[in-house]
Amino acid sequence: MNIKILDTTLRDGEQTPGVSLTSLEKLRIARKLDEINVDYIEAGSAITSEGERDSIKEITSQDLNAEILSFARPLTVDIDYCIDCDVDGVNLVVPTSDLHIHDKLNTTSDKLIDLSNNAVDYCKDHGLIVELSAEDASRSDVDFLKSVFFNAIDHGADRVCVCDTVGILTPDTSFELFSKLNDLTVPISVHCHNDFGLAVANTLAALKGGASEIHTTINGIGERAGNTSFEECVVSINRLLPEFSTDIKINEIYNISKLVARATGVYIQPNKAIVGENAFAHESGIHADGIIKNSATYEAMTPELVGRQRKFILGKHMGTHGLNSKLQEWGLNVDEDQLNQICHDVKELADKGKTVTDVDLQVIADNVLQINHEDRIKLDELTIVSGNKVMPTASVKIIFDDEEILNAGVGLGPVDAAINSLKSLDIFKDIDLIEYHVDSITGGTDAFIDVIIKLQKGGKVVSARGTEADIINASVKAYIAGVNRLLRD
Ligand code: MN
Repeated sequence: MNIKILDTTLRDGEQTPGVSLTSLEKLRIARKLDEINVDYIEAGSAITSEGERDSIKEITSQDLNAEILSFARPLTVDIDYCIDCDVDGVNLVVPTSDLHIHDKLNTTSDKLIDLSNNAVDYCKDHGLIVELSAEDASRSDVDFLKSVFFNAIDHGADRVCVCDTVGILTPDTSFELFSKLNDLTVPISVHCHNDFGLAVANTLAALKGGASEIHTTINGIGERAGNTSFEECVVSINRLLPEFSTDIKINEIYNISKLVARATGVYIQPNKAIVGENAFAHESGIHADGIIKNSATYEAMTPELVGRQRKFILGKHMGTHGLNSKLQEWGLNVDEDQLNQICHDVKELADKGKTVTDVDLQVIADNVLQINHEDRIKLDELTIVSGNKVMPTASVKIIFDDEEILNAGVGLGPVDAAINSLKSLDIFKDIDLIEYHVDSITGGTDAFIDVIIKLQKGGKVVSARGTEADIINASVKAYIAGVNRLLRD
């Protein structure tokens, strides 16, 4: 059975504490959701603000394939704003638990059904698709919940949704609840929250119980502990539930996850399934050895399935197999003694509590193989002007093969300005900075700053590190070290 996906990253996801997206970011995310075949996109809540309506209008004007919805309460004022935004449909949210009806709305069950029916009528009179979401459905009387749904369907609702608003279902109770709704004549959707870490499990159980649509957010962002994670659900359906399928382009999952993480500033925990930094990383020697022989030994799926690549991590659990495959990637062929020596040196560094990066391995390998590299680019002078009323500006003098080169650049901040003063030079022009990562090694403002960057030139990728008390110097040092490595062959 084909499962439809309503993604609410732009509505429930944006309700993540501290997150507020610009119109442009919302548009970019909506386009990507559409590109990877999400069926329904909840673009926001039209009643919220002028700015919110502008972003929804921007999205509805794009002629996307996905159905675009806005959140609405069962009130004419909300629905009018949705109509104004030219959405295809509304996610009409009607509370169905006693707690919400009496304590929040201070009304009665009968009046609530009238309110709901009138709102559905009003939407249908204005040509809107209606998905009626029962808020707090998991704490509602099932008979009352069903009468709200039956009424809404009689009045023309196209789909209904059961919301586990505070995330109190378990896979068993989720399955039971949905099994009781099989006499409804429209598609049933499930909207879960992750307060007990069960959102994905409950969503999958709902499918078994009869739901045919799921509400998700990218990276599982959302209020409190978040919503059902899009990537975990989609990949689980693909790999673990052969009776169901989605139309999602799975190999784009990592890209959209990164896009949303960058736009929202909500970073992904390293051990997060599917999209976490460590989801396809192997450090243990036994595992790396198995993976190289047959990746199925220690991977539930290939990283390529979700648009990623496998990583072998250097560290004290590492074995020579993983290490050797990494060295070979760099074109370094070593004999057994050299390999053992490199392995020993890496572990010694790891034992000191240090994260061993590709740069460290490069230096260790160079030492063992006694390769001496002469750096072609050297930094001679760097001057930065920065403050609250000036545009950050940098001037640099570098020595490139004994020739002095001077340049200047501006940027959003001093690091950006410094890197821009280098990037605009001819020798750097084919080089892309693809990753930039900063750590402070100790605690205070006097801490040493560790900058790790990744640079790309053509098909070649290198990483490099700069460690200094000054973040700008550390960044420039890492950048130049990376370029020197790229220039070596
Ligand atoms: Mn919600």
